[in-house]
Amino acid sequence: MKVTRLPVDPGPPAWNLLLPTQTQYPALAGNKTADWLIIGAGFAGLAAARRLKQLCPQDTVALLEARRVAHGPTGRNSGFMIDLPHNLASDDYGGELERDARHARLNRAAIDFAADAALDYGLADEAFVRSGKTNAAATEKGLDHNKSYSAHLTKLGEPHELLDGAQMREMTGTSYYLGGLHTPGPAMIQPALFVRGMADGLAGTGVDIYENSPVTSLKRDAGSWTARTTGGRISAANVVLTVNGHAESFGFFNRRLIHIYLYASMTRPLTPDEVKTLGGAPRWAVTPADPLGSTIRRISGTGGDRIIVRNRVTYNPGRCANENAVQAFGRSQDRSFARRFPMISGVTMEHRWGGQLCLSRNDAPAFGEIDKGLYAACCQNGLGVAKGTASGMLIAELAAGKTSPLLDDMLAEPAPSRLPPEPLAWLGATATMRWGEFTAGREL
Ligand SMILES: Cc1cc2nc3c(=O)[nH]c(=O)nc-3n(C[C@H](O)[C@H](O)[C@H](O)COP(=O)(O)OP(=O)(O)OC[C@H]3O[C@@H](n4cnc5c(N)ncnc54)[C@H](O)[C@@H]3O)c2cc1C
Repeated sequence: MKVTRLPVDPGPPAWNLLLPTQTQYPALAGNKTADWLIIGAGFAGLAAARRLKQLCPQDTVALLEARRVAHGPTGRNSGFMIDLPHNLASDDYGGELERDARHARLNRAAIDFAADAALDYGLADEAFVRSGKTNAAATEKGLDHNKSYSAHLTKLGEPHELLDGAQMREMTGTSYYLGGLHTPGPAMIQPALFVRGMADGLAGTGVDIYENSPVTSLKRDAGSWTARTTGGRISAANVVLTVNGHAESFGFFNRRLIHIYLYASMTRPLTPDEVKTLGGAPRWAVTPADPLGSTIRRISGTGGDRIIVRNRVTYNPGRCANENAVQAFGRSQDRSFARRFPMISGVTMEHRWGGQLCLSRNDAPAFGEIDKGLYAACCQNGLGVAKGTASGMLIAELAAGKTSPLLDDMLAEPAPSRLPPEPLAWLGATATMRWGEFTAGREL
């Protein structure tokens, strides 16, 4: 199969720019062989490599990445590794109870797996910390949403705490939020620091990582697969595809994957005076009570004290978004920042970027053996930091012939359902997103 599209994400990989120079892995050159080939060094690919090395320590594992580690979506997200499914507060929640519990089990196993990796590879707290996260409400509607979310969590027996406006101000320094709902399970990562640490740790256990090595074709011959890049080729009996939405570029799950882009801006480092004026805790992380609102993080550590605003979304079936969108949505992020932090209104954004994300209509993963010896762990449906890690871990178990209750949970998921034809899908998705952003009001 010929690969029809290669990954493109607009704007700089901002998290990575805060860090010292990263390890440079070579590009694939010449002819190579390995027992296992993993394509795509995101959360799923790195987790698959770690799990394969745990299960088959003597086997050789090669990992091919089209760009640099931490430059793709895995290094561009907001860093929330979330345990509970997002749709807990939906009106029809009752029918979803069993599936939500299954997703929570998978996400928690992924968080534990990442915690073990962080420990094994000696990663700092800044890279991975189990701090929980808060669903912040800036409107009465948001408060209502949090109340019903709280009722669902109580039904599930999940611990959580409702916060009032004063507690939100104590945490964030702003009186913008009327309340919040804190859940203790999520971990927060510095995405680039975490995945660079994962890659370096894996390289230390004998995984061969190749960067700047986009796979342009994949072919099965005489019982083994051969992947070609511009500089070389590599053959392996088993291949794991961890390219998220680019599974479609390899010819799989056609018209079943929804390709969207998310956008974010990061401030310049705050000065000590601005930090004092702002107040609040040095590190915090809030998701919006409305799904199309703004996710906000305050970070401190390598790269200084900064605030990150993530909002706006576009539907891009062509799997690319342009720099104009990054700039246009950057202005929306400036407004969201100014509304929340008028006390430091002189602070400007230093980095703006976008990144690809893959969903399916029925919230199902693109997971399993898709051809003889070819496995997919793609389509993470929004909670990709946790779900990408879970699907990477579990595809390694499936491919290595291992069974486990968690793998059974994953295999119980449905396949991604078919999308309507274009331009219907484009019209439907774009109208839903624009309307959702409009009705999000002050949550945006
Ligand atoms: C701005 C933004 C904020 C987000 N915030 C969050 C968040 O806070 N929490 C959360 O859970 N999720 C978040 N996400 C989503 C999350 O980043 C993704 O779901 C996650 O990265 C998916 O991981 P993955 O490993 O499956 O795929 P990816 O991270 O997309 O990795 C796939 C890799 O495959 C490589 N690849 C593709 N094609 C080829 C090829 N032909 N050859 C070789 N390599 C190839 C790509 O370069 C890429 O590195 C966010 C996303 C964005 C863009």
